[in-house]
Amino acid sequence: MTEYDLSLEAIRMSGVYPERCMKCGKCSGACPSYGEMEYHPHQFVDMISKGRIKELMESDSIYKCLSCFVCVERCPRNVFPANIVEAVRTLSERRQGADRISPDTLTEFIDGDTPQQLLMAVMRKYSK
Ligand code: SF4
Ligand code: SF4
Repeated sequence: MTEYDLSLEAIRMSGVYPERCMKCGKCSGACPSYGEMEYHPHQFVDMISKGRIKELMESDSIYKCLSCFVCVERCPRNVFPANIVEAVRTLSERRQGADRISPDTLTEFIDGDTPQQLLMAVMRKYSK
């Protein structure tokens, strides 16, 4: 799948309309993880609309997002940036393919530095 197609897939999964964004930055201004994230919610919206998903998929920003949905509440255009972050995170985890950890060995990988979002995503994945 090309990077552009992956971006379209993320948009489809998120159910958002990035073209609604008026680039006001209110989402990023209110994001509690702003200082931790290499890419901020408004950049997720902008980059995904331009087909630049790979940089987002390879960034720790997808695990720094707290899924608090403050960005969604603050957006005046109902763009739902958090949904895009979630979709990019899901696609990144799927891409790991054969490198996926198995449920049996999951506890071996958990330590104090394990991002909570990663644990939640893995739990969702294996509880389907
Ligand atoms: S959902 Fe994620 S991107 Fe949105 S405000 Fe919360 S931490 Fe920031
Ligand atoms: S708050 Fe909404 S409209 Fe403003 S930059 Fe963020 S996504 Fe775009």
